Amino acid sequence: MDPLGYSFFGTCWSGIRTGATAVYDASAAVGGVVVDAAAAVGKVTADVAGKTWAAGNTAIGVVAGGVIGGGFISGIGTDISIGNNAIQFENVWFMFGAITLGNSILYAEDFGPEYKIDGVKNKDHERQHTYQSQVLGPFYLFAHLYYGLKAAILDKDWHGPLNILETGPQSNPPRPWP
Ligand SMILES: [Zn+2]
Repeated sequence: MDPLGYSFFGTCWSGIRTGATAVYDASAAVGGVVVDAAAAVGKVTADVAGKTWAAGNTAIGVVAGGVIGGGFISGIGTDISIGNNAIQFENVWFMFGAITLGNSILYAEDFGPEYKIDGVKNKDHERQHTYQSQVLGPFYLFAHLYYGLKAAILDKDWHGPLNILETGPQSNPPRPWP
């Protein structure tokens, strides 16, 4: 017997609670997807913005590697590939060591992507400079000249401790920033 209808209200309440929980879970799941999607879109947007910001330096690197280095001309021996967040030019005839300009990397013949210094591959080191370039944009070259010359004069080594733009890339594992 249930003269006051408690079980009826009880049933209604548990129904409402189940429904509300389901709606809450569903909206949290949808919310999560929206947040993830927004974060993904944000990352892609930041990456595109960074590559656009770095485009001036990338263009210098592409001219240096593709035109002067002969990457766009067959038979010169400069290889082009896409990798390490960059257009890569390998076996560039005028290169000593490696250099990153925006989203382009130029490697000397005896200093390719797989060559290791202190256990770090050149490609992993240079990739960090592409990330720096996407943040620093047109200031990338000036910043490298400033800190490189400062280290060259005071540390007597371009890659010395005062060159904070080499500190991260020279770490193991390498990273963009100190
Ligand atoms: Zn470096």
